[in-house]
This record gives sequence, structure tokens and C-alpha cells, in this order.
Amino acid sequence: YEMKVFDLNFLIQSMKTKIDVTVEHYIKVVYELSSIPLMVKLDIEAFNEVLTNLIQNALDAMPEGGTIKIKTDVASLLNKEFAVLSVTDTGTGMDEETQKRIFEPFFTTKGAKGTGLGLSIVYRIVRDHEGSIEVESEVGKGTTFKIYLPLIKDVA
Ligand code: ADP
Ligand code: MG
Repeated sequence: YEMKVFDLNFLIQSMKTKIDVTVEHYIKVVYELSSIPLMVKLDIEAFNEVLTNLIQNALDAMPEGGTIKIKTDVASLLNKEFAVLSVTDTGTGMDEETQKRIFEPFFTTKGAKGTGLGLSIVYRIVRDHEGSIEVESEVGKGTTFKIYLPLIKDVA
């Protein structure tokens, strides 16, 4: 990893064009970025891989179209401040049994079309960045993945 300090909102802004052209016309992407800068330390390539995987899974879950929401925020957990990146889709959702297994390498519900590697890679990258990942999902409604990254308070 090549760790550098970035404003998460700036990163998302700079990826907007690429994201918007990647998705099909029947998918809407909305952005809800926090008004304050969110400084985080990360490897830009690894971060791209995380976001790309989450967006690809969201697209796979919405074959008939829908909305992807990309949101940033701050949260404090155990007296520590985190930048939160969430990716929400209005796709198929997952039952509890599936949710338990999604971070396992090679776990896929996509048959031969899936590798089951995306989320295990995401999990490893997030953990290597001293962050954490959460999933909230409801069958028939959709899914939200939340990524927490330690907020850098004093940027020299
Ligand atoms: P793959 O996409 O190759 O199946 P992943 O590791 O990216 O592998 O995802 C593992 C599984 O998690 C998927 O097969 C799917 O069942 C579930 N999953 C991941 N993201 C979503 C999502 N946004 N909506 C519904 N199911 C999801
Ligand atoms: Mg995937």
C-alpha cells in the first residue's frame, strides 16, 4: 500500500464521472456528500477497488434498474471519529444466512458468473486501513454497505 491523506469527499467527486459512465442508463446514481472535508489515510488504488466492487455488486443486485446512493458522513465509535462511506442500492437484498457468509472467499450466489472474491478483498483492504465494514440488508428492498475509516484530525 502507498498510504496518503485525502479528503474522502474530494475522492468521490473526482470519481463521479467514471462512476456515472460505468453504470447503465436504467441505474440512477445519487451522491450525498458531507459538507465538511473528511480526511482519511488510504491507498488510492485499494480504495478504488473497494468502491468498484461495492458498485458492481449493487449493479448485479439491480438487473431491472434502481438507484445507487453514495453517501459520506462522520461517526464516532468508542470515542474515536470515523469517516463513513456508504453505498446503498435498491436491489434484491439478502437474507440473514447470506449476509453471514458474504465476506468469505469464494462465497457467491451468482453461480458461474460470480467469483465470490469481491467482498473478501474489500474486507481485507478495509481491515488493512484500520477500518471496519458493516452491512444492512432487507430482501426485496436493498442493501447498504458502510465503510468506516479513521478520521485524521490534524493534517500537518
Ligand atoms: P460475487 O459478486 O462474485 O458473487 P462478492 O464477494 O462480491 O462476490 O459478493 C458475494 C455475495 O454477496 C454475492 O454473490 C451476493 O450474494 C452477495 N452480495 C454482495 N453485495 C450485494 C448487494 N449489494 N446486494 C445483494 N447481494 C449482495
Ligand atoms: Mg462482487
